[in-house]
Amino acid sequence: MKKKGIFGGTFDPIHNGHLHVAYEALYNLELDEIIFIPSGNPPHKTSKAVTDGKIRYDLVTKVIENERRFKVSDYEINKKSLSYTYETLEYFKELEPDTQWYFITGADCLMDIYTWKNIDRIFNSCKFVVFNRSGYGKKEILNQKSLVEAKLNKEILFLDIPILEISSTTIRNKLREGKSISYLVPEGLNKVLKEMNIYK
Ligand code: ATP
Ligand code: MG
Repeated sequence: MKKKGIFGGTFDPIHNGHLHVAYEALYNLELDEIIFIPSGNPPHKTSKAVTDGKIRYDLVTKVIENERRFKVSDYEINKKSLSYTYETLEYFKELEPDTQWYFITGADCLMDIYTWKNIDRIFNSCKFVVFNRSGYGKKEILNQKSLVEAKLNKEILFLDIPILEISSTTIRNKLREGKSISYLVPEGLNKVLKEMNIYK
């Protein structure tokens, strides 16, 4: 049975923190591949403007081209509306019912899991994998993990890996201020982002 990971995010832009965690997940969970899924654009303008989905998708594509086990999907960016996680997971599950799917997400998501739509359907389509995010202690994460596991009667996998303190927000801000983003994103992307000048 194939084992594949799903890693969703805004990826505005993708950075080494994302790639590092994806690679750790690939390796630790012995996955055949990980699919990066950039989120769609909000149908109505929200308080925070997000870069066009096609651009964020192209940047992911560029960055992962040398790792054959990293893939990208345009499923969410092509949707007219924002996709709920359960819909995305069910889409992939239906596409490949014989694959064991893993949904990989940060501890922040585990903390507010009850605000997500149809969590039972999320847990029925995949194995739920949580990794540390800064701001959350290991004890706090493990405690919440036990509570959610007991409530939903499902197992949650915890990936205890070191996290690089990088965020897309930091990168956008640095670019706006004309500062260097070397070593925060892969070298190739560094040049492309400067040339594209999208984060003005
Ligand atoms: P922003 O600063 O715009 O919020 P971000 O850097 O947090 O962006 P997202 O696209 O929001 O990135 O995150 C997508 C996924 O990657 C989420 O599951 C999030 O928990 C995770 N993630 C974000 N930054 C890191 C990081 N430095 N290390 C590991 N995972 C990260
Ligand atoms: Mg974030």
